[in-house]
Amino acid sequence: MKIKKTIYFIIIFLIFTSAAAYPQDFNTENIKNTIKILSSDKYRGRLAGDKGNALAAEYISSYFKSLGLKEGGDNNTFYQKFEIIVPFITGDCRLKVIDKSGKTVKEYEYGKDFKELIYGASVKGEVVGKIKSDNNEGTIEIIEGGFGENSLEYSQDLILKKSGIKAVLYTTNMNFRFRSPYKLQKTYDDGIVKLMISKNILNEILKYSSLGYSFYIKSPVEVKKVYASNVIGILEGSDKNLPPVILSAHFDHVGFDADGKIYPGALDNASGTALLLECARVLKSSNQKRTIIFAAFNGEEEGLIGSKYFTENPPIDIKGAECINFDMVGSIDKAPLSILSLESRAEFSSQLFKIISPKVSTKLMYDDNSDHAPLCRAGIDAVTLIHDNITKIHTPNDTLENVDVKRIKEVYTAAEAFLKYRDIVMVSSQFNNKHHIPVEAFIFSAIILISAGIRAALYLKKKCHPVDK
Ligand SMILES: [Zn+2]
Repeated sequence: MKIKKTIYFIIIFLIFTSAAAYPQDFNTENIKNTIKILSSDKYRGRLAGDKGNALAAEYISSYFKSLGLKEGGDNNTFYQKFEIIVPFITGDCRLKVIDKSGKTVKEYEYGKDFKELIYGASVKGEVVGKIKSDNNEGTIEIIEGGFGENSLEYSQDLILKKSGIKAVLYTTNMNFRFRSPYKLQKTYDDGIVKLMISKNILNEILKYSSLGYSFYIKSPVEVKKVYASNVIGILEGSDKNLPPVILSAHFDHVGFDADGKIYPGALDNASGTALLLECARVLKSSNQKRTIIFAAFNGEEEGLIGSKYFTENPPIDIKGAECINFDMVGSIDKAPLSILSLESRAEFSSQLFKIISPKVSTKLMYDDNSDHAPLCRAGIDAVTLIHDNITKIHTPNDTLENVDVKRIKEVYTAAEAFLKYRDIVMVSSQFNNKHHIPVEAFIFSAIILISAGIRAALYLKKKCHPVDK
């Protein structure tokens, strides 16, 4: 009985100590924690140039520092600063019907009936005036139909401005809680106040207009040229002659609305950023030959601005490099994992597809809407791994609940398959792994070891001295 007990204790001891001694390479709790942090209100939707974005950059920089990565940014920092044109929302946004004495007759609801429009030569300002029609000289134009961020939009705005128009109301059926700060990166001296209005209120507005009422329009859009930073950490390889591997993800998002509603961007792209940080942690002790650049890109939402800057100003030579970018990983809706690339890099993306597909079901697509594109255009082999589900992104509903961290493991497995192919093995060491080894397991194991030892000693003592009773 006692021998049995001792063996039993030893088995438990071995189970616990083996669990403690073997590295658990990938930790979904770390991923979840990072997404939770970056999508919290403190970071204000991480719009490039906003203080929430700067705080997110700081968080990533500190993380890279805690891992002991080498600074890959400017002046021995992790920050790589660049200029970017961003539409900021500063102040409130209003649309009111007013009578001759200036009294409000009707006030429309922000986010439901109308919203600011950032596209084209949009500027901050207040306008009081009448709607332009065939029989009056109004200063507010209603344009029914499409709008978008393109050169035509700018030239149209400037023509309207010259003709005496001060504000434009664009009618649309779009969901006002979808938000994109995408900008053509153009500056302009003189712009126009722009709102979009729901088609549901168009007839009412026209009716008020025909009865002689005026309108008060206020837009909070301030398009400004500011600085934003990529955050770059480097893990040096033993063979400096080999081209580096780049792992990347954009950490910026679209900010907040004029009524303070924050767009958390959990799937887009706190998820990819969290995976990037976890890869850095796991790879840190891999003793690999190739240098690995961990690049957290900024300004993706304005048009891949950070990754473009990085491509043109790499911290080290990236000729011959290969890049895996993570964007929107772990969607709760079962969007399949896609490899996005450009046709110009078809050879690399097909090779990658062959490496990954036996491990993870995936599809190969050509698309230029993520950070692989500037790298591909510069002749670098780059792909984005993505669970392409756009149902909640760029809305206030892209919260942690929109992410299934278990599915991020799938993307990790895909990246790992490629890295193994390149002789880079993800090994995490228990000594620099704060989160992985359960302290309880050690304590429990120690207790079991001591008690097993005492029992074994007592047993042996009894066996050797059977008369000692
Ligand atoms: Zn996005």
